[in-house]
Amino acid sequence: MIEEAVATAVDNKPRVFDDHHPPAADLLNACVHCGFCLQTCPTYTLWGKEMDSPRGRIHLINMAMDGEVGLTELYVSHFDHCLGCLACVTACPSGIQYSKLIEAMRSQVERLYHRPLGERIFRRMIAATFSRPKRLRKLAAALRAYQSLGLQRLAHTLHLTGLLPESLRAMERLMPDLSAKESSAPLPSRIAAQGEKRRTVALVTGCVQSVFTAQVSAAAARVLAAEGCEVVVPQDQGCCGALLLDLGQEKEALDMARKMIDAFEPTKVDAIVVNAAGCGAVLKDYGYLLRDDPKYCDRAMAFSAKCKDPSEILAELPPRAPRHPIALRVGFHDPCHLQHAQGLREPPRAMLRTIPGLQLVELPESALCCGSAGVYNLLQPETGYQLGERKVHNIVSTHAQVVATGNPGCQLQISALLNEKGQQLRVMHYMELLDQSISGNGSVQARNHR
Ligand code: SF4
Ligand code: SF4
Repeated sequence: MIEEAVATAVDNKPRVFDDHHPPAADLLNACVHCGFCLQTCPTYTLWGKEMDSPRGRIHLINMAMDGEVGLTELYVSHFDHCLGCLACVTACPSGIQYSKLIEAMRSQVERLYHRPLGERIFRRMIAATFSRPKRLRKLAAALRAYQSLGLQRLAHTLHLTGLLPESLRAMERLMPDLSAKESSAPLPSRIAAQGEKRRTVALVTGCVQSVFTAQVSAAAARVLAAEGCEVVVPQDQGCCGALLLDLGQEKEALDMARKMIDAFEPTKVDAIVVNAAGCGAVLKDYGYLLRDDPKYCDRAMAFSAKCKDPSEILAELPPRAPRHPIALRVGFHDPCHLQHAQGLREPPRAMLRTIPGLQLVELPESALCCGSAGVYNLLQPETGYQLGERKVHNIVSTHAQVVATGNPGCQLQISALLNEKGQQLRVMHYMELLDQSISGNGSVQARNHR
């Protein structure tokens, strides 16, 4: 508890952090306070306040390290407002490793700061639901009934959703329209390569993705098979732990990481493919996250080294499957965890350029987060909404007919905001577009299917 941590004094300075991975001094010292990151930070862009910028947050951590401030509500709010988008990492000329700092801060805050009861309950509810595919499927079934029976329309007509707390309202608004979709059958454990086999890969099907955007994994499996990959789908895989890390629940997240390693290790594949950029960034970081675990640290490093976004594995394989034309103007939305965390801007664009007739357009402010950021749009609904509105405005300005992206959270967030603004654009994972081009089955509908 914070009281215990503060009570322990060293050099007469009150201690704010506990001894379990406090923010590391060498990481903090990498910041030379130049301010190049400020204009790329979404919260600084919205509010123009130093303490809600990367440089300001680093200064706040240093102040706590020196015992000059404690974990007050105001102090914690500056870190709760951080999206973890890592735009600051891309912008920083000094090589700041901000992801390690914000991860350390989130788990310190979770352990040492006593949140108000309502917040604690909501956070626990998110952790207990969104990282558990079985529970999510039950939630999806209830949501499907709520939408199919017309209850959602009725609730909106009677303005009943306005009675919900802001966070639950955001959750209701972000849920995709499941009434028109059949629940997808799970993928089989092995899908044969077409033609001569070029790789054996394992596919991460995710938790939120496996329930709300399961068509993405099915499309990815078909594309990989068409390009000569045998696809293995471990049936006992669970959540990668990314959502729990966002919530600062480090111990629980690491338990999930160990289970993922146990599930994928026996497959002995060439690569582990992950369609969800947010999960991909965390999977690639398992080696660091499990650095203290003698039983898992080497295995985690080996696991992380195999993890790839689909665009990375396909870049190694010259296209073999013929593509049918898709004559659409497609705007690519870069997920933060693809462009900033994994440094992958060009590879997904290169995949889309293999589709004849497809016109790729760039979005203004493409480095800026859409406001989804894991569960940020549920925890900080107002800021998430403002950023989502800004993203939608930028998308519409390009006159794109379809939005392509590479992360289910972005897909749900942008789709919900487009729908709310009456825009009929469809938001797809770029692997869905590739799949439709390779299969030639039907034409891509530009309409938003929410
Ligand atoms: S992670 Fe994103 S929101 Fe947080 S400080 Fe960096 S740029 Fe700003
Ligand atoms: S760009 Fe890097 S070094 Fe400069 S203020 Fe931001 S984090 Fe610090």
